[in-house]
Amino acid sequence: MIITRESIESRRGPKTKLDPMRPVAVIQECEPTARPTANHPNPAIAEVTSVFLTGAECAFRCTMCDLWKHTLDVSTPQGAIPGQIDVALRSQNNDRSTGTKSPQWIKLYNSSNFFDPRCVPHEDWDAVATRVSRFDQVIVENHPRLVNSTVGQFASTLHGQLEVAMGLETVYQPAIKLLNKQMTPNDFERAAHRLQSMNVSVRSFILLQPPGMPAAIALDEVEKSLRFAGQCGSRHASIIATRGGNGIMEELAAKGRFRAPSAFALERCLDVALCHNPNMVVTVDLWGFESLSGICDGCIEPRRERLTAMNLSQSILPPCELNCGCSDA
Ligand code: SF4
Ligand SMILES: [Zn+2]
Repeated sequence: MIITRESIESRRGPKTKLDPMRPVAVIQECEPTARPTANHPNPAIAEVTSVFLTGAECAFRCTMCDLWKHTLDVSTPQGAIPGQIDVALRSQNNDRSTGTKSPQWIKLYNSSNFFDPRCVPHEDWDAVATRVSRFDQVIVENHPRLVNSTVGQFASTLHGQLEVAMGLETVYQPAIKLLNKQMTPNDFERAAHRLQSMNVSVRSFILLQPPGMPAAIALDEVEKSLRFAGQCGSRHASIIATRGGNGIMEELAAKGRFRAPSAFALERCLDVALCHNPNMVVTVDLWGFESLSGICDGCIEPRRERLTAMNLSQSILPPCELNCGCSDA
């Protein structure tokens, strides 16, 4: 099968209908700010407000991406992003405890590229910066090929530290070809160095078992990608279990070119990742954990809780000992 923009689009289902003045979702999370070390055995835990913004669809068409489902077919209207942040922060203020000393971070994730002016109009930057001025760190997502000097301009409008999250995805060549990401690891490296030269920190997304990668080498390849992300100066790497759901992934699965990773594979990834990469925070993304294979109603929660605790503590905890019969067969 030849992967093209057209072959990906033609297999998609419908988008969700969205109001451009409302965010898709707002959630509260906690994140470690650093890896524990002998000198700093208990790094601070940041309280993170994650805002999933409604905006224009990404210009790229990555094979594994299902973020388009929650995007608009038109450019993001001017004023919509600041308005959505207002809605998000109002809802959050109702739930927040006061007087916290924890670092306050905010993720402004727009299912696309923050520095594409179709997705976030530059005219809105000052209004965005004003709204997030009380946060110590602002995290946005962006394709490595869309990193340019405007990122530094936006960073200079912020009170807090800017972090840009970029999909490295994998350094495994056969999978890179299938992902249609229109990017190489060298592009990622260049973008990461450019960000750091502008005093912007880097977060990496790494895929566990993308299409074109045999399950038997998936763990090793995550390790290689983590090492590369670390060499590029990533402060944090988040491992994502590759999922289906956009049509083309199901077709690749039927042709034997994609198999979704199991919950066991994700658990092993974090166990191994935390043994290495001492200078980088490494977490696993637990969104959709319950849909992975090798898990049952009985063990979902203890296993999710263990990974949540490992994400936070950056240390390996004993495995779930429930005798529920789940296995990685
Ligand atoms: S660049 Fe990111 S948002 Fe755009 S299609 Fe690829 S994975 Fe999806
Ligand atoms: Zn089970």
